[in-house]
Amino acid sequence: MQSPDPLAALNSQQREAATHGTGDSAADTRPLLVIAGAGSGKTNTLAHRVANLIRHGADPQRMMLLTFSRRAAQEMERRVGTVLQQALGLAGKQALPGLPWSGTFHAIGARLLREYAARIGLEDSFTIHDRGDAEDLMGLVRHEIGLSEARKRFPLKGTCLGIYSRVMNTCDPLGLVLQSTYPWCTQWEDELKKLFGAYVEAKQQQNVLDYDDLLAFWADMMAEPALAQEVGARFDHVLVDEYQDTNALQAQILLALKPTGQGVTVVGDDAQSIYSFRGATVRNILDFPHRFAQPARVVTLERNYRSTQPILDASNAVIAAARERHSKNLFTDKTASQRAQLVLVPDEAQQARWVADQVLRQREAGTALKGQAVLFRASHHSAALELELARRDIPFVKFGGLKFLEAAHIKDLLAVLRFAHNPRGRMAGFRAVQLVPGIGAASATRLLDAMGEAGDPHRALQEFEPPAAAREDWSRLASLFASLAQPGLAWPADMELAKEWYLPQLERLHEDPQVRKLDIEQLARLAAGYGSRERFLTELTLDPPEVTSDQSGPPLRDEDYLILSTIHSAKGQEWHAVHVLNVVDGCIPSDMATGTTEEIEEERRLLYVAMTRAKEQLHLLVPQRFYVTQQSGGGDRHVYAGRTRFVSEGMLAHFEQVAWPPAPASLGAPGVQPQAPLMQVRARARAAWK
Ligand code: ATP
Ligand code: MG
Repeated sequence: MQSPDPLAALNSQQREAATHGTGDSAADTRPLLVIAGAGSGKTNTLAHRVANLIRHGADPQRMMLLTFSRRAAQEMERRVGTVLQQALGLAGKQALPGLPWSGTFHAIGARLLREYAARIGLEDSFTIHDRGDAEDLMGLVRHEIGLSEARKRFPLKGTCLGIYSRVMNTCDPLGLVLQSTYPWCTQWEDELKKLFGAYVEAKQQQNVLDYDDLLAFWADMMAEPALAQEVGARFDHVLVDEYQDTNALQAQILLALKPTGQGVTVVGDDAQSIYSFRGATVRNILDFPHRFAQPARVVTLERNYRSTQPILDASNAVIAAARERHSKNLFTDKTASQRAQLVLVPDEAQQARWVADQVLRQREAGTALKGQAVLFRASHHSAALELELARRDIPFVKFGGLKFLEAAHIKDLLAVLRFAHNPRGRMAGFRAVQLVPGIGAASATRLLDAMGEAGDPHRALQEFEPPAAAREDWSRLASLFASLAQPGLAWPADMELAKEWYLPQLERLHEDPQVRKLDIEQLARLAAGYGSRERFLTELTLDPPEVTSDQSGPPLRDEDYLILSTIHSAKGQEWHAVHVLNVVDGCIPSDMATGTTEEIEEERRLLYVAMTRAKEQLHLLVPQRFYVTQQSGGGDRHVYAGRTRFVSEGMLAHFEQVAWPPAPASLGAPGVQPQAPLMQVRARARAAWK
């Protein structure tokens, strides 16, 4: 029996992209750029391209697939597997003959750096600092070189790290970054230089890398012609999704891997570029056609397969008003009568109730919770909704928000494992050794100093003399470290030993040890899924698991749950029904982004990304009273907000407007207190639609 043609489902432009450089076009070695609007099948085409290359004999293990998150990488592998399965009639597990190197730039960077560590002057046992650790280390160094005390108005550690990170990712000089993005810090340029020098030194002494180092060291490694040649030659194909959100370093790495452009495929959408605050630059995708030794082949896709025409009309209207012209002309065959809704609610509490009601109504109508998502600008915007969902027992998973790993007890246990893995890592060490009763900051510093100076840090640890009262407890931790340093220990035995040591500390340190114990068990189960301590620690830092409604770690696969996500983390995904919270000025655009036109335009694209996640139903919620957290003094307060400026009067025809609770029945509507401010709000709400 003839296997079905896997490319039959693709339209002609998608097929061109999927088959570029194979079959009839085998002689065409140009790099490939697919630039197209949301939902036009870029990611899908990329998956078909990978499958098609494999069918034409490409070795998956010689492919590098760079995605925006680990979740996206897994989804891509699944899609490739399905296509191959259908095409070759393979059974499930066999579908992929070997796995591509897939993951984020950071994760693949970490993997390569470990492999090449010895040749680039790194120790392969390095640990990776997450944002919190990096900030703390920056704070510590800032203090050590006397900048925090002597100069009272010197930028805070978070700002310092932000500046440092931006310099690293944009490859721009410090002076320029200060002028363009941190103008209030320009007076500190010399001090900042000194601070960053000391910070780099501290990381090196402690054998730790931060996120930015994963890219910067990789780029540096690729600047060595021999190494670039060697690493590049290991990969026949390098494919990148969401290319519009890469930064200068990432573009540099790609060019160094494949200077001729042969085997390079990138896909993206300039109208969805939303990460410039982290140094990403849309120039990468715009410059791509002429970046390599030979010009690129450019394919554009115009048909949208995701959303209904009314949703597309509303989204197109929002992006069409952008200052930059995004030359997309999306159309779809998915006709529908239901327009996107603009839902006017009195405040955030009512917004939460409306969304919870709507979600349940949808579920009754046959859309599982998993087919629905609630999106918001900033993680804390979902607080009221989370309470409401918990109250009604609606399970949810939150992406891009507070992480499971941020809980104190989880951090404690991970610090123990990290310190065992890299005994020169001071941030982990400082936390771990102070878990011993009787050991405080002074003793911890004394130990870490001794370990830093010693040739053999393990030995220095074993020889450490703790304060007399702490001796017995200390000896238990010291013997744990001795066990963890044994070479033959098989993962996750290390985790078990560390857990055994930690549980009594947990009892002592926390008032609610029972709940926290469940988390620890959850972490141990999670650990068992990774092949080694090193992989566990690396991947957990780079791509932490999400928080669930019961706060006890990642959910079971088959459960039905609602997705809560920041808009940034919702990139590339789609749901049957999408609710966007707080579509008001001050939120989208964020009141922190009211600075430059570029910032405002990025907020417009953010709204566009949110809207284009919806397949059938889209609800934009507009609370009239909106709670803001003031960054610079003044405390938190309620403000009266208006509909986002990105939905102008002229665009209202694309939306169905709903005021809730409905005006005539409003006094009797459940849960609405007929207090004066709300009455005013309701009057305003009605007036807004006149
Ligand atoms: P985004 O810009 O949001 O990342 P995208 O361009 O990557 O979107 P995909 O996620 O690949 O788009 O595809 C959007 C939806 O359209 C998916 O559900 C996908 O399965 C479907 N799709 C893509 N191409 C086709 C096609 N040729 N026929 C039918 N459905 C398709
Ligand atoms: Mg995509």
